Amino acid sequence: MVALLWLLPLAWALVLVLYARPLLALWHEPAWRYPVLVIESDDWGAGMLSQAAALDALRALLGRHSDHTGRHPVMTLGVVLAIADTEAIRAAGGREYVSIALDDARLAPVLAALRAGIADGVFVPQLHGMEHYWPPAVMAASQTDWRVAAWLAGEALPRTEDLPSPLQSRWAAAAVLPSLPLSTPEIIEAAATETATFQRIFGIAAQVAVPTTFVWNDEVERAWAAHGVRCIVTPGTRHEYRDAQGHPAGDGRYILNGERGRNDVRYVVRDQYFEPAFGHRAEQGLAALARQTACARPTLLETHRFNFIGEPADVAFHELERLLNAACVAYPALRFLSTQEIAEAMARQDMQLIETRLHPRLRAWLARTQTLPHFAKLARLTGLVLPLWLLGKWAA
Ligand SMILES: [Zn+2]
Repeated sequence: MVALLWLLPLAWALVLVLYARPLLALWHEPAWRYPVLVIESDDWGAGMLSQAAALDALRALLGRHSDHTGRHPVMTLGVVLAIADTEAIRAAGGREYVSIALDDARLAPVLAALRAGIADGVFVPQLHGMEHYWPPAVMAASQTDWRVAAWLAGEALPRTEDLPSPLQSRWAAAAVLPSLPLSTPEIIEAAATETATFQRIFGIAAQVAVPTTFVWNDEVERAWAAHGVRCIVTPGTRHEYRDAQGHPAGDGRYILNGERGRNDVRYVVRDQYFEPAFGHRAEQGLAALARQTACARPTLLETHRFNFIGEPADVAFHELERLLNAACVAYPALRFLSTQEIAEAMARQDMQLIETRLHPRLRAWLARTQTLPHFAKLARLTGLVLPLWLLGKWAA
């Protein structure tokens, strides 16, 4: 029995060696001093005019809440800058792609609603893409897929959510599966055009990019960075193409907050979800805030445009209101920040927001280890939980 006890530290060492890399990465991930919440909402911009009323209602809702510093909650909007001009495409016999940009007179109500929220400090636009698709891929697919042909020939200002999912990826040619990579010159030109368009429409450079369907690669990163993008929103991994089944696929690596990509762009992780149209209620958002706060991570809540348009919108507005009310009550120290501010704070190691003291960092690290696949189970099996528990007691 005593001989067996000697084996325990050996087993612990083995687990620690096995997990050395991720454990070290979790230690280096910035730890936040305060609970942080940002509502990240994608797909707004060029598209149906009903967005204008939804954006106005969101602006009013966000303006009714404040954190203890007096700051309103920020909804970062992943903005799409252009949409297919179905009428012009039809007139050209479906042979030529024509688009309507967000600053076209036909989209004036949507842009006005966006700008009003930006002026109030409750919306912050982020680059989602020129289009929520790669136009040549959509044109090619329309030759063989009646759904795509119908989408291009259908209603004016169509919904990109109605496109087949693989085609909603901008940085892959998914007319065939597995998707084909875009060429480097294509990527460079498209990134230059979309960042210039963002600048023209919003009067500021796009500093945060949210790749559509989280499919992008090193070349996209380099091209964006060359035009001022400093931060990329990720789901904690990177997808680079659509596989034979049409699913996003990549190298499976883990990405943590603050890690750097090509040309020094910084990653933030958005892996918490608040999609009332899928049944999520305020409680799910609060649980996400609790999990992230225990890990001293900011909470980036993903919630798409589709929640706030049409049938499910009443529920979505109601639940967002409840979530913000409850979050402010439960976390008096809560901070509402934008994703760009989160990235900047990590980049310059802002000591107002980023923890440097040992004990809170240890507590965050211990909580984060519980998110590693199989680590908690192995720690239990080997008894490693005991020294970790003691470490937690010491850090408390
Ligand atoms: Zn999107």
